[in-house]
Amino acid sequence: MAEILKGKVVADKIKEKMKNDIEELKKNGKIPTLGIVRLGDNPDDISYERSIIKNCEKIGIEAKVFERDINMTTEELIALMEELNNDNTISGVLMFRPLPKHIDEAKVREALSPSKDVDCMHPMNLARIFEGDMSGFAPCTPKAAMEILLDYDVELEGKNVVIVNRSMVLGKPLAMMMLNHNATVTICHSRTKNLPEITKKADVVVTALGKAKFFDEKYFSENSICIDVGISLDEEGNLSGDIDYPVVSELVSKITPVPGGVGSVTTSILLSHVVEACKRM
Ligand code: NAP
Repeated sequence: MAEILKGKVVADKIKEKMKNDIEELKKNGKIPTLGIVRLGDNPDDISYERSIIKNCEKIGIEAKVFERDINMTTEELIALMEELNNDNTISGVLMFRPLPKHIDEAKVREALSPSKDVDCMHPMNLARIFEGDMSGFAPCTPKAAMEILLDYDVELEGKNVVIVNRSMVLGKPLAMMMLNHNATVTICHSRTKNLPEITKKADVVVTALGKAKFFDEKYFSENSICIDVGISLDEEGNLSGDIDYPVVSELVSKITPVPGGVGSVTTSILLSHVVEACKRM
């Protein structure tokens, strides 16, 4: 039976550190505040928004929602970004994506000040990750995956890490973070041939497909350390990771559960970025 890498343990430590920082900021009259930009009323966005606001309240961060019409133009959204850049009461900005198709997302991403870009949408913050510079804001989910590995003292130097995802929000920045820790990194995707052969030989496998229970025992060995980033619904409508957890957790060395794994750390990372942005103001 694998060691379970629980996200809550890691998230609680991040929150504990944040509490001290927030107290210090408040003593100096600064209140860390997250601006949430939401276009329209997509139920997934609203549910994520509620969960973020609840987490903000628990820890003493303020959240202000900027709800706008789904039909707003690119120019109007850029103007909102500029307004938030100049608003001294807003420490960091989270904008729900994907944006509606008529919006030029690249232009909007560039309009937000990198210093308020707590979810790493600005190309400058992404570029920093690729340069090995962690002084900007890293994308929250790959950073959450890294925090779990580091918190559980998983040695990455010289280890073979396989990441199954090549998106700009997940696989690519995560590969750079792994390289910074001297891992040997392979990125796989939907055109990769012989995926089980590749993942089975790896020391660490990060899965981020969004396909419930896709990875069974044939993808892993008893030495595998599995970080499951995928979140989707299985055939019974239950929340599931990409890994067939009941089966695979019997085989491998370490594994993150879903729910209760990477996802539970991601929000804490986001909030820690808001606090950091407020400290830098
Ligand atoms: P995405 O852009 O759709 O990326 C999926 C990746 O999986 C792509 O690189 C795709 O390859 C690859 N893939 C799909 N089918 C495959 C197959 N059969 N074999 C090998 N690779 C395959 O999705 P995303 O936005 O990166 O998100 C991925 C998952 O992470 C989703 O479940 C999402 O819910 C979850 N997520 C979790 C968190 C969290 O906090 N835990 C946060 C964000 C997202 P191609 O590039 O070739 O298409």
